[in-house]
Amino acid sequence: MSGTMSVAPEPAGIVIVGASLAGLRGAETLRQAGYDGPLTIVGDEPYLPYDRPPLSKHVLAGELAPDATQLPNLVPLDARWRLGRPAITLDPGARTLTLAGGAVLGFDRLLVATGARARPWPDPAGARLAGVHTLRGRDDAASLRADLARGPGHVVIVGAGLIGCEAASCCRDLGLPVTLLDPNPAPLARSLGAVVGGVLAACLRDAGVDFRPGTQVAALEGDEAVRRVRLADGAIVAADLVIVALGAMRATGWLAQSGLRADVGGVTCDGFCRVLAADGAPVPAVYAAGDVARWPIPLYGGRLVSVEHWGNAVEQGRHAARNMLAAPGDQRPYAHLPAFWSSQFGINVKAVGLTEGADSLAVVQGSLAARRFLAVYGRAGRSIAAVSFDEARWLPAYAERVAAGAPFPPIRQATDQPAIVRHPPGFPKARGSGAGTGTTGGRHG
Ligand SMILES: Cc1cc2nc3c(=O)[nH]c(=O)nc-3n(C[C@H](O)[C@H](O)[C@H](O)COP(=O)(O)OP(=O)(O)OC[C@H]3O[C@@H](n4cnc5c(N)ncnc54)[C@H](O)[C@@H]3O)c2cc1C
Repeated sequence: MSGTMSVAPEPAGIVIVGASLAGLRGAETLRQAGYDGPLTIVGDEPYLPYDRPPLSKHVLAGELAPDATQLPNLVPLDARWRLGRPAITLDPGARTLTLAGGAVLGFDRLLVATGARARPWPDPAGARLAGVHTLRGRDDAASLRADLARGPGHVVIVGAGLIGCEAASCCRDLGLPVTLLDPNPAPLARSLGAVVGGVLAACLRDAGVDFRPGTQVAALEGDEAVRRVRLADGAIVAADLVIVALGAMRATGWLAQSGLRADVGGVTCDGFCRVLAADGAPVPAVYAAGDVARWPIPLYGGRLVSVEHWGNAVEQGRHAARNMLAAPGDQRPYAHLPAFWSSQFGINVKAVGLTEGADSLAVVQGSLAARRFLAVYGRAGRSIAAVSFDEARWLPAYAERVAAGAPFPPIRQATDQPAIVRHPPGFPKARGSGAGTGTTGGRHG
């Protein structure tokens, strides 16, 4: 015996990068499924996982403090939390990753759950002005809420996607004057089409929002603080607070040198949530879930999609975790029907499926005029998606039909069904670039 004690290196175990919804639900599933080895959760934010949907609703409204959004732990995790530092590189061959500051973590299996970041205003000079905000995280919401509470004279929101519309709704509830600018003909036009978006446009206007469709923003201007928004046609809109709601970019920068298929549209997986290398082969032991993942969706012919939906983060986080523990032959393909909800202007919006390629729309319950309806999207005679405004009672039945690829429209002559009214859905021509491509609910800012 030499007299010196050799300490066995700690087993690397499972590492999850991204301490948010998909990562947390994945971690819980690992423990529930009996994994009792080392578990490390890396997050660049200094917080334990919290919930984002309330940030653009109750937190902006001042009804909920930003730190009251923490997600509950559904099972004890016994995890090592490495919070406040991002992972900056990954070497899948060596099964190591590096954190900012230099720490190197080994892993046996890895779950990539780094989500997405708000797309910033493209001109850094404009983006840096005081009073210019994006909204993705808890700190963003706290800072935006603080500025709103000061009672700005005029709020301008750039982008009429879900977050832009939710923010407009909150600002009007706070009594603040709001202008909402978007290049498309209607709010949510890229995800829900201009016919359904037109209903929201009417809600915006009734609530007193100065909604300007078909508007391109050229610049955010000011001295130290933002003072005005210059439009592409030269017009000026006065502003002392600007919310940039231009959608999200997947947080994949740290994977740039990893040899994985990753870009701002996501990290590409196979149907089992296994991340693919540049040559298209699954990388052993590396999985992805949540907003960051781009996967082949069986319900829509296996085309690659990534969605920014709470429900997908939960389900895919759990699914990836189960597959991480399963023997290769026992892994299950991820078959998920995308779904999201939103609340704005007192309306509960819920949607299922993907609208990409929709060529028709049928209002099958209620009416657009009453702003209480359920509408189905069709493509080549099949039902591909459905959306409800304050009419979710029937949505599960339609979700089933969408999941089954039923003929369009799927349910006819139900006892309480009015005459079905058909419309062209009204999608703007250049659809589908960027985050959340072609989903009913890619949040599109
Ligand atoms: C304001 C807002 C409102 C929303 N409202 C709704 C809604 O009403 N309905 C709905 O269905 N969906 C909604 N969503 C979408 C939903 O919240 C997301 O789909 C969900 O948060 C995705 O979870 P995730 O864990 O995949 O990613 P995220 O929640 O984005 O979490 C990823 C985490 O990883 C961290 N990270 C990134 N890079 C690194 C790195 N290199 N190293 C370490 N950590 C890293 C991030 O900082 C973040 O903490 C909303 C989103 C936002 C932003």
